[in-house]
Amino acid sequence: MPQPINAPHMDTESRQQAHSLLEFCRELGLTDYYREKNDLENDLQNNLQIDAAASLDPITPPSGAVAAPAPEPPVVELDPSTHLDPSTQEDTLDMARKPAILYPPNVAIANTTALLPAQKLAALQSIREEIGDCTRCTLCEQRNKIVFGDGDPNAELMFVGEGPGADEDEQGLPFVGRGGQLLNNMITAMGLSREQVYIANIVKCRPPENRVPEFDEATTCTPFLFQQIDVIRPRLLVALGATAATYLLAGKSSLSSLRGRIHDCRGSKLVVTYHPAYLLRDPRQKPEAWKDLQLAMKFLGLKPPPKTKS
Ligand code: URA
Repeated sequence: MPQPINAPHMDTESRQQAHSLLEFCRELGLTDYYREKNDLENDLQNNLQIDAAASLDPITPPSGAVAAPAPEPPVVELDPSTHLDPSTQEDTLDMARKPAILYPPNVAIANTTALLPAQKLAALQSIREEIGDCTRCTLCEQRNKIVFGDGDPNAELMFVGEGPGADEDEQGLPFVGRGGQLLNNMITAMGLSREQVYIANIVKCRPPENRVPEFDEATTCTPFLFQQIDVIRPRLLVALGATAATYLLAGKSSLSSLRGRIHDCRGSKLVVTYHPAYLLRDPRQKPEAWKDLQLAMKFLGLKPPPKTKS
């Protein structure tokens, strides 16, 4: 265990947060991070590989399953001079590499490239309004709150999880439970704050008993997530766990085969890592998750935050 933080000027909550971050770093094997040296960047140099050809098994819809019709992209009033020519965006779907993307629904990428910060907020609000008091799938029956997503509409980095748990369902915010605390630590270790990123999920309502969302539930809900991605246009998406990776990459594949590479998703890049809940169950995998985050940091040009002496 790291020594309790000896910082009398800090309030109890800050001290606890700093302590849990140090503990997280220690679990990752990052003693250097809060001591003398830091070789992490060097490790990563050798690790970075841009994915040339991801091969994914198609998602096979269960027999009889009907994909929900794709909602219309949000209507955002723009200065016409800020619109890009749609023909310049055709390659962003990258259809050649993704035959599997034809099912679930191929929601066209909305032409939102040139949205200004205030317009992005308004566009997200309009998606939220379109969702309304949703009853499009049976997850509505037991949910308390729809968990739309949270964070900076102009974020360069967006995390996508699976679906809300009990705490998220109660508060209407993503990743606020134990997994959320770990995700916060991961974000802090990357040199960012939670307010600087955007966080959302594959489904916006809590699946009963926290089960994995069914195919129909996920494909009914993801068109709204895709719209959020199109508005935010993060430089990088991080898929947290297999469910997020499956629906964002429109194909099923093992996490191990997807990790360590940079994928394409709706005009953004995407890396895959373990879900925080899995890391809580098996903390030995945290150093592996840290490798994934380093890949993300390298792509974004982020450096770990300054070292603090223990
Ligand atoms: N797990 C998720 O996948 N998402 C949340 O928002 C919380 C826990």
